[in-house]
Amino acid sequence: MYNDILLPIDLTHRDTQAKAVATAAELARKWNARLHVLTVVPDLGSSLVASYFPPDFEKKAMASAADELRTFADQAIGGDIPVQHIVSHGTIYSEIMRYADKTGCDLIVMASHRPELKDYLLGPNAARVVRHANQSVLVVRD
Ligand code: ADP
Repeated sequence: MYNDILLPIDLTHRDTQAKAVATAAELARKWNARLHVLTVVPDLGSSLVASYFPPDFEKKAMASAADELRTFADQAIGGDIPVQHIVSHGTIYSEIMRYADKTGCDLIVMASHRPELKDYLLGPNAARVVRHANQSVLVVRD
Protein backbone atom coordinates (compact mmCIF):
# COMPACT_ATOMS: atom_id res chain seq x y z
CA MET A 1 0.00 0.00 0.00
CA TYR A 2 2.86 2.37 0.86
CA ASN A 3 6.37 1.78 -0.48
CA ASP A 4 8.56 4.35 1.27
CA ILE A 5 7.86 5.37 4.84
CA LEU A 6 9.61 8.38 6.34
CA LEU A 7 10.19 8.27 10.11
CA PRO A 8 11.62 11.57 11.41
CA ILE A 9 13.41 11.12 14.73
CA ASP A 10 14.28 13.68 17.39
CA LEU A 11 17.41 12.12 18.91
CA THR A 12 17.20 14.39 21.94
CA HIS A 13 13.87 12.83 23.02
CA ARG A 14 14.23 9.32 21.72
CA ASP A 15 12.26 7.49 24.46
CA THR A 16 9.13 9.44 23.69
CA GLN A 17 9.04 8.20 20.11
CA ALA A 18 9.01 4.46 20.85
CA LYS A 19 5.41 3.98 19.75
CA ALA A 20 5.95 5.89 16.49
CA VAL A 21 9.07 3.84 15.74
CA ALA A 22 7.29 0.55 16.46
CA THR A 23 4.33 1.61 14.29
CA ALA A 24 6.49 2.66 11.34
CA ALA A 25 8.54 -0.55 11.53
CA GLU A 26 5.42 -2.72 11.73
CA LEU A 27 3.85 -0.99 8.72
CA ALA A 28 7.10 -1.34 6.74
CA ARG A 29 7.14 -5.09 7.51
CA LYS A 30 3.48 -5.50 6.61
CA TRP A 31 3.76 -3.66 3.29
CA ASN A 32 7.35 -4.63 2.39
CA ALA A 33 8.14 -0.94 2.39
CA ARG A 34 11.48 0.80 2.77
CA LEU A 35 11.91 2.74 6.00
CA HIS A 36 13.73 6.10 5.84
CA VAL A 37 14.87 7.23 9.28
CA LEU A 38 15.73 10.93 9.23
CA THR A 39 17.13 13.18 11.92
CA VAL A 40 17.63 16.90 11.42
CA VAL A 41 20.41 18.84 13.12
CA PRO A 42 18.60 22.13 13.70
CA ASP A 43 19.86 25.42 12.38
CA LEU A 44 21.08 27.82 15.05
CA GLY A 45 18.76 30.35 13.50
CA SER A 46 21.15 33.28 13.58
CA SER A 47 24.57 33.90 12.09
CA LEU A 48 25.44 35.91 15.22
CA VAL A 49 24.88 32.82 17.43
CA ALA A 50 26.73 30.60 14.93
CA SER A 51 29.76 32.91 15.06
CA TYR A 52 30.39 31.79 18.67
CA PHE A 53 30.80 28.13 17.61
CA PRO A 54 33.93 26.59 16.09
CA PRO A 55 33.87 26.67 12.26
CA ASP A 56 33.54 22.89 11.85
CA PHE A 57 30.93 22.32 14.55
CA GLU A 58 28.12 21.60 12.05
CA LYS A 59 30.18 18.93 10.32
CA LYS A 60 30.97 17.32 13.68
CA ALA A 61 27.36 17.57 14.87
CA MET A 62 26.17 15.83 11.70
CA ALA A 63 28.77 13.07 11.98
CA SER A 64 27.84 12.46 15.60
CA ALA A 65 24.10 12.50 14.74
CA ALA A 66 24.75 9.92 12.00
CA ASP A 67 26.40 7.56 14.52
CA GLU A 68 23.65 8.08 17.08
CA LEU A 69 20.91 7.58 14.50
CA ARG A 70 22.39 4.30 13.27
CA THR A 71 22.75 2.96 16.82
CA PHE A 72 19.23 4.06 17.71
CA ALA A 73 17.71 2.52 14.56
CA ASP A 74 19.61 -0.77 14.96
CA GLN A 75 18.35 -1.11 18.53
CA ALA A 76 14.80 0.11 18.01
CA ILE A 77 14.00 -1.45 14.62
CA GLY A 78 16.22 -4.49 14.15
CA GLY A 79 17.75 -5.75 10.95
CA ASP A 80 14.82 -7.46 9.26
CA ILE A 81 13.67 -4.52 7.11
CA PRO A 82 15.59 -2.21 4.77
CA VAL A 83 16.41 1.04 6.55
CA GLN A 84 17.93 4.21 5.07
CA HIS A 85 19.62 6.48 7.62
CA ILE A 86 19.63 10.19 6.77
CA VAL A 87 21.00 13.19 8.60
CA SER A 88 20.23 16.66 7.36
CA HIS A 89 20.72 20.16 8.62
CA GLY A 90 18.33 23.09 8.66
CA THR A 91 14.80 23.87 9.77
CA ILE A 92 13.29 20.64 11.09
CA TYR A 93 9.84 20.61 9.48
CA SER A 94 11.18 21.95 6.16
CA GLU A 95 13.83 19.27 6.01
CA ILE A 96 11.27 16.54 6.75
CA MET A 97 9.05 17.71 3.89
CA ARG A 98 11.95 18.37 1.52
CA TYR A 99 13.30 14.86 2.04
CA ALA A 100 9.85 13.27 1.59
CA ASP A 101 9.32 15.13 -1.71
CA LYS A 102 12.85 14.54 -2.98
CA THR A 103 12.84 10.79 -2.42
CA GLY A 104 9.22 10.04 -3.22
CA CYS A 105 8.26 8.91 0.29
CA ASP A 106 4.54 8.25 0.36
CA LEU A 107 3.86 8.13 4.11
CA ILE A 108 5.32 10.08 7.05
CA VAL A 109 5.00 8.57 10.53
CA MET A 110 5.82 10.77 13.52
CA ALA A 111 5.11 11.16 17.22
CA SER A 112 2.70 13.98 18.08
CA HIS A 113 4.85 15.72 20.74
CA ARG A 114 6.84 15.22 23.90
CA PRO A 115 4.74 13.91 26.84
CA GLU A 116 5.63 16.87 29.05
CA LEU A 117 3.83 19.11 26.56
CA LYS A 118 0.63 17.14 27.00
CA ASP A 119 -1.59 20.22 26.85
CA TYR A 120 -0.67 20.56 23.19
CA LEU A 121 -2.26 18.15 20.75
CA LEU A 122 0.55 18.59 18.26
CA GLY A 123 4.11 19.80 18.66
CA PRO A 124 5.37 22.56 16.36
CA ASN A 125 7.10 20.31 13.83
CA ALA A 126 4.33 17.71 13.73
CA ALA A 127 1.75 20.47 13.24
CA ARG A 128 3.58 22.01 10.31
CA VAL A 129 4.20 18.68 8.62
CA VAL A 130 0.54 17.67 8.97
CA ARG A 131 -0.56 21.01 7.56
CA HIS A 132 1.89 21.36 4.67
CA ALA A 133 3.23 17.95 3.59
CA ASN A 134 2.22 16.51 0.23
CA GLN A 135 2.16 13.01 1.74
CA SER A 136 -0.20 11.26 4.13
CA VAL A 137 0.96 11.74 7.71
CA LEU A 138 0.32 9.29 10.54
CA VAL A 139 0.64 11.10 13.88
CA VAL A 140 1.22 8.58 16.66
CA ARG A 141 0.03 9.53 20.15
CA ASP A 142 1.24 7.78 23.29
P1 ADP B 1 7.85 18.67 20.60
O1 ADP B 1 8.29 20.12 20.59
O2 ADP B 1 6.81 18.34 21.64
O3 ADP B 1 9.01 17.70 20.61
P2 ADP B 1 7.70 18.30 17.73
O4 ADP B 1 6.61 18.64 16.78
O5 ADP B 1 9.01 19.01 17.62
O6 ADP B 1 7.09 18.45 19.19
O7 ADP B 1 8.04 16.75 17.63
C1 ADP B 1 7.16 15.83 17.08
C2 ADP B 1 7.91 14.98 16.08
O8 ADP B 1 8.64 15.84 15.16
C3 ADP B 1 9.00 14.06 16.64
O9 ADP B 1 8.48 12.88 17.21
C4 ADP B 1 9.76 13.78 15.37
O10 ADP B 1 9.05 12.86 14.54
C5 ADP B 1 9.76 15.14 14.68
N1 ADP B 1 10.99 15.86 15.03
C6 ADP B 1 11.20 16.75 16.02
N2 ADP B 1 12.49 17.15 16.05
C7 ADP B 1 13.13 16.48 15.04
C8 ADP B 1 14.47 16.45 14.53
N3 ADP B 1 15.46 17.20 15.06
N4 ADP B 1 14.73 15.65 13.48
C9 ADP B 1 13.76 14.90 12.91
N5 ADP B 1 12.48 14.89 13.34
C10 ADP B 1 12.16 15.67 14.39
